[in-house]
Amino acid sequence: MGKFTMKKIAVIGGGIMGRGIAYAATVAGFQVHLHDLYPEALEKAKTYLETELRKSVHHGFIRPGEDEASLNRITFTTNMEEAAVEADLVIEAVLEKMEIKVDVFKKLDKICPSQTILATNTSTMSPTEIGAQTSRPERCIAMHFFNPVHKMKLIEIVRGLDTSDETFRIAKKAAEAMNKEVVEVNEFPGFVTSRMNCLIGNEAMNMLMEGVASAEDIDKAMKLGLNHPMGPLELADLVGLDTRLRNMEYLYQTLGEKYRPCPLLIKYVKAGRLGRKSGAGFYKYD
Ligand code: NAD
Repeated sequence: MGKFTMKKIAVIGGGIMGRGIAYAATVAGFQVHLHDLYPEALEKAKTYLETELRKSVHHGFIRPGEDEASLNRITFTTNMEEAAVEADLVIEAVLEKMEIKVDVFKKLDKICPSQTILATNTSTMSPTEIGAQTSRPERCIAMHFFNPVHKMKLIEIVRGLDTSDETFRIAKKAAEAMNKEVVEVNEFPGFVTSRMNCLIGNEAMNMLMEGVASAEDIDKAMKLGLNHPMGPLELADLVGLDTRLRNMEYLYQTLGEKYRPCPLLIKYVKAGRLGRKSGAGFYKYD
């Protein structure tokens, strides 16, 4: 990593993605500081991490004792300054809303030393727009992880307009240290994966709404006919329908009509049916 030795990673937002990124970072041996605004979110993240680390020992992914050691490398805090002040790399995983991400980046820019790299885990949005609000756009980048982070091999690394080559190299090294494969993407809304996946998911929702087939049969058709490992509706439930709707709204604004969010998705979110995380989405969960 040249002069820059990465030891500490701060993760901002302890939801579905933040807790997963914390898992990948601690198993790779980094010191991790996980921050969320809400103590309940941190409690949930801790329980999740304990369970997943234990399962990883059971499946032989990590050695006995590494679960406890990994957990001990993570601190949980509702104080963003405490989390980020000594970090070499900060990975932001808060809600998919530009104004919230910009607010977090502005605060991080004030808190963190000038060499700290600020990465966003946005699924769709512009790292250029986010980075431009800081005094260090050359050290801002998108590192797009996938859900569930401990199982998914990819990180899409997206350079903003002013992202430096060094920042890209460091982000790639960090990704590889976390045992991930990288694709390098030039910034455009939705990158490669979300642009494709949101369109497929939305079409599946439109088909369900039009009565073309049941949710089960749409998913089965995509899995057994087209060799997708998960159906698009079960995948949307895993992502979270509120998050998916925000992704669709952004892609609709930036890429146009093709990405108009399905009315059924909007209706489900209004009803509080957010997928797995709320117990019901296109399917029901215990
Ligand atoms: P989530 O709703 O599960 O978690 C978001 C967390 O951020 C919550 O715990 C919330 O309390 C916290 N938060 C909100 N505002 C905050 C702030 N100002 N400071 C600190 N914490 C704050 O959402 P998620 O699914 O983890 O998504 C997070 C990001 O990751 C989004 O940008 C999303 O698009 C992206 N993403 C999601 C997925 C997915 O499958 N869910 C996959 C890849 C990327």
